[in-house]
Amino acid sequence: MKFYNTDWFMWIALVLFAPVGIILMWKNKRFSKRPASVISVIFGIWFLLCLTALPTDRTPQPASSAESPRISAAQTVNESPLQQQNVNKTIKVHYLDVGQGDCILVQTSEKTMLIDAGNKDDGKTIVSYLKAQGISKLDIVVATHPHEDHIGGMAEIIKALDIGLFVMPNAVHTTTLFENMLTSIEDKKLDVVEARCGLILDLGPNVVVNCIGPTKEYEDLNNASAVIRMEHDNISFLFCGDMQKQAEEEISKRVIRSTVMKIGHHGSDTSTSIAFLDVVKPTYAIISVGKNNNYQHPSVSTLKLLNERNINVYRTDESGTIIATSDGKSVKFSAQPSKYSEPEQTKPDTDSSSQISNSSNSVNSAPSPSSPSNSSSQSSKPAEQTTVTVYVTNTGAKYHSDGCRYLSKSRNAISLDNARKSYDPCSVCNPPK
Ligand SMILES: [Zn+2]
Ligand SMILES: [Zn+2]
Repeated sequence: MKFYNTDWFMWIALVLFAPVGIILMWKNKRFSKRPASVISVIFGIWFLLCLTALPTDRTPQPASSAESPRISAAQTVNESPLQQQNVNKTIKVHYLDVGQGDCILVQTSEKTMLIDAGNKDDGKTIVSYLKAQGISKLDIVVATHPHEDHIGGMAEIIKALDIGLFVMPNAVHTTTLFENMLTSIEDKKLDVVEARCGLILDLGPNVVVNCIGPTKEYEDLNNASAVIRMEHDNISFLFCGDMQKQAEEEISKRVIRSTVMKIGHHGSDTSTSIAFLDVVKPTYAIISVGKNNNYQHPSVSTLKLLNERNINVYRTDESGTIIATSDGKSVKFSAQPSKYSEPEQTKPDTDSSSQISNSSNSVNSAPSPSSPSNSSSQSSKPAEQTTVTVYVTNTGAKYHSDGCRYLSKSRNAISLDNARKSYDPCSVCNPPK
């Protein structure tokens, strides 16, 4: 193969063999007409073969063939040595568990980027996490928007580490935390650039990092979120901040299909519209959210939407810090995907009016939404659904709260919704209506 690809051999073959062969053929009277035409076809094919095997651009050919002799001349023209190297470089994206907040670390082979810094108390934890990764300098720090759960630990991080470039949207907030962040930026004389659509961030040659939002100014701070998209060969990551449906609509006008999507605003139903999700078409979704948070994030509707599209969901409230590793072809996760459970799955069983049971044992075994479940995702959903359990007797026409004296002889669990249809509320225990 190497000999076949050598320049001088090609040129000699091309310049000498074919013409010489043809001349010899016509001069030699011993050839009859028929073999002559056969031989001219053979020489013609040989000529074309030489022509196609010749490198079209001669300058890069010797260098690339020296590095990779197994690759033919035609391939080396299309695939630069840089591209071949890139395929081997893995990148890591750490979705840190900062409770109800966001903090994402991106590590390429050359550079690092931090997107958001959790709540105020997370500052120290994040700094020690970064140091444990051997990081003393962050090339890029993005504060997606000025809400506490995104910039809380920022002042601490700015003080503790070297920072190359600070990226934040043109949005201000009147909190002390926001002012502290600005003061730290000033004290360290950091380079600050506005996060806006069109900004390109440099995280080394292996990835392409674009800021694709905000596309305009918003009064709502969540919509003003910096939205970052990173491409690593065939794998892409989308970081949505707390962007709401309005900003999603603006951004959807661009092509933003991404393999891994950090779901906007902790899985709240004010983000992740159907249209947006169907444009991004992620294979994997990350929800950065606190266990038993006061906002009931992520919303049941968002989880349902993701499940309907067979998207693998990873949640920091269930798995803690999640690390995604990409080799440019596929992506692996350090955690198991979240198990989806239908929010109203317990209803049909508990509602069954044929459930005749008056022993106290059956009461304990009767499934109810308040029974403990084996995962936090399951336990948080019934609360959001406000499925309330009340009790009826075998013969009575009223429904009761647990503990009512009328339940002493028989006590059957039933959902409030169903109880309302066939029973009246007890006037003694006054159950929810
Ligand atoms: Zn926010
Ligand atoms: Zn947030």
